[in-house]
Amino acid sequence: MSVTQSQVRPARVEGIERPIPVGQVATPVRRRPAVLSASWRRLCATSFAVAGITGLIVWVAVSQLIRQGQLEAVLSAGRAELAAPLLVALVVGTGICERLWPAERRPIMARGHVQDVCYLALHAIFVIPLMTLLSVGAAALISDHLHWIELRWTQNWPLWLVVPVTIVAMDGANWLAHYADHRLGPLWRFHALHHSQEELSVLTSFRAHPLMHTTGFLLATVPVVALMPTRAIAPVLITIYVCIGTLQHANLRWSFGPVGRVIVSPAYHRLHHAADVQHANLGVVLTIWDVLAGRARFPARDGVVGRTGLDGRPVPVEQDAASHSLPLLLAEQLIEPFQARG
Ligand SMILES: [Zn+2]
Ligand SMILES: [Zn+2]
Repeated sequence: MSVTQSQVRPARVEGIERPIPVGQVATPVRRRPAVLSASWRRLCATSFAVAGITGLIVWVAVSQLIRQGQLEAVLSAGRAELAAPLLVALVVGTGICERLWPAERRPIMARGHVQDVCYLALHAIFVIPLMTLLSVGAAALISDHLHWIELRWTQNWPLWLVVPVTIVAMDGANWLAHYADHRLGPLWRFHALHHSQEELSVLTSFRAHPLMHTTGFLLATVPVVALMPTRAIAPVLITIYVCIGTLQHANLRWSFGPVGRVIVSPAYHRLHHAADVQHANLGVVLTIWDVLAGRARFPARDGVVGRTGLDGRPVPVEQDAASHSLPLLLAEQLIEPFQARG
């Protein structure tokens, strides 16, 4: 017999209105202490899950490297790739160009710049080792559990062929990870910090939550393990790839002319940071993935510079007059993904 509307009465169980059929005895519910219950509700479980997955990958990497006695050597190699003199020169050179030909003129000590310098320090001290370990851990997990994806026949390909194909495939995987960051709520929680910058500059490349990198490394490692299971990409090529990905945040109108139809330019990526166009221009280095997905929006010739940031400021930002001092705000921004949004 079905239960009709007249046969039910509402009962409050753990704060949720739930209908109970007449005659059914409501079982007593053991309530959590109100303070504890309220504290749990203020936390975001999926963000802790992402942190847990990150911890697991790092643990796999560290235990493998300690077993092999290579922990220090691999961390040094990671630093050499991700903090190479070429990258430092690019950041300094781009910073000078931003002073000479800014897309948006602002003081050198603008709060957005100073806050992103804090992220640069966090990147150098903590994120580079984390990225290195994520790369090693993801490769170990994929090789151990998905070894069938290794395309051994590519071993016969010459390096001049397999390396560009792998880098293009890796860029495609990075596009997919970026797409997931925008489409999946638990990942967007970490990616939103990067988009919260209202004063874009080359330093914004380093404004990212450390846990934002986990999916990127998990996905981008797949084509590398598949296409180059026994060979490695030359570190200088990784550095060049990172440099192009860093330049795209520059406060410059540069669209790279015809090259900008293929390589992501500052003007192209700036459109991705506009409050109303974040679903477009997800490319990391190549625009082809956006073109194929119908998500490419090339900058107009008029060179109009739109504002960047997030409408409604869901992430606390330094441009808010009521924001805390910058170091405290940094902690607040890093903790924010773990808090339930109201
Ligand atoms: Zn994005
Ligand atoms: Zn960006």
